[in-house]
Amino acid sequence: MRPNSLHAADLAHMVHQQTDLGAHAADGAVLIARGEGVHVWDTEGKEYIEAMAGLWCASLGFSEKRLAEAAYRQLLTLPYYHTFFQKGHEPSVRLAEKLTAIAPPGLNHAMFQCGGSEANDAAIKLAWYYHNVTGRPQKKKIIGRIRGYHGNTVATASLSGQPHMQADFDLPLGDRFLHISNPNYYRAGLPGETEEQFSERMAAELQALIDREGADTIAAFFAEPVQGGGGAITPPRGYFEAIVPILKQAGILFVADEVICGFGRTGHYWGCETYGIQPDMLSCAKQLTAAYQPLSALLISDAIHAALLEGSKRNGSFGHGYTYGGHPVACAVALETLAIYEERDMVGHVQAVSPAFLDGLGALRDHPLVGDVRGVGLIAGVELMADKAKKEPFPAGAKVGLLVQEKCHAAGLIVRAIGDRIAFTPPLIITAAQIGEMCRRFRAGLDAAWAELQERRLA
Ligand code: PMP
Repeated sequence: MRPNSLHAADLAHMVHQQTDLGAHAADGAVLIARGEGVHVWDTEGKEYIEAMAGLWCASLGFSEKRLAEAAYRQLLTLPYYHTFFQKGHEPSVRLAEKLTAIAPPGLNHAMFQCGGSEANDAAIKLAWYYHNVTGRPQKKKIIGRIRGYHGNTVATASLSGQPHMQADFDLPLGDRFLHISNPNYYRAGLPGETEEQFSERMAAELQALIDREGADTIAAFFAEPVQGGGGAITPPRGYFEAIVPILKQAGILFVADEVICGFGRTGHYWGCETYGIQPDMLSCAKQLTAAYQPLSALLISDAIHAALLEGSKRNGSFGHGYTYGGHPVACAVALETLAIYEERDMVGHVQAVSPAFLDGLGALRDHPLVGDVRGVGLIAGVELMADKAKKEPFPAGAKVGLLVQEKCHAAGLIVRAIGDRIAFTPPLIITAAQIGEMCRRFRAGLDAAWAELQERRLA
């Protein structure tokens, strides 16, 4: 059989994930061929600034040789081993030691998986396990937030507040998953309401939900410090300060999903640090290996770890694990990634370039399509509005976000449309000059979208 051309084979055989499959069937896919620094090139030779770092993950860009070499060294030494049955290997032990040393205080134990979904799925299981072992077996419900994103397994897609990831998949599963409002102050704040008042309203909604369901039925609350897949939504002032005491009071575990925020993205090592959160569990992935290998970690408190020991005694074993959880090559790459972050003071770099990033995007508030720009560190979201003075959104079917994304593509910029929000999370290594170029290309994309909308009489 003669192979098809790459694009024909893609259309014939590749099932793309999180994709409008009709659009793919009509237009094909952009296939990326190579990368260097913050840039990637497609198979047609077109160059882009990758302002999403892939999927919020390629923190060190696309050509960090040290990570390739770390993987190669480990492949030659021990290409695979597991951590089941009292066995293990040095890379995973050293990584657990390192991660718990840099984690928010109290998270002294690490468990490894391959991706963010698996880490959060494990966190849901451990929340149930913890409450069962400690004599509160009726604590089962898990609270997430509308537009929150915690993964794509049966449980994490149920927990996520993303209707298109549930419809026709028979999700959410059962009645264990509850959701509270999305903390998008720009879209959901009432006229005249301050950020602090909005946060208080969000907290009151959480309290009402707990009162209605009963604190003794709720196991855990999951939150991304900055909501990524929901539209790069930074929490309004006072939000976590208002929410955390309510959870504590109700004996509900706080799970911080740091799959996007971890490792400097928000201008501190952890999003929890940026927002003063002390979680019971913390999931991280993506920038843990700068995306050069699939790996995630779930960091847990001493109290939860004690419950695992107790449960293991009761059941004969701790009955959870994955063949590739803590894969030695992935762990070796993670250790090298963390060493690079330290040597290059990546958090300091994020703090240094963040003003150029936030001011550069913020300057686009003058554009007729841009209603709001918000962000922290090197993550930002831009809200597109039909009439910004009246805060009027575009009609749902107009797909203006996708139009802007398409025009940015044409201008050599990869961004992500989430409805009518445009998300930015460039590689952490991006320089101020590259940020300038990123903003110029974004303005070109916005201008082209604006021109087309005027032709279509939508603006
Ligand atoms: N949590 C968050 C906050 C995420 O953004 C993602 C992925 N974008 C996940 C979990 C799931 O991670 P993965 O795709 O690696 O399973």
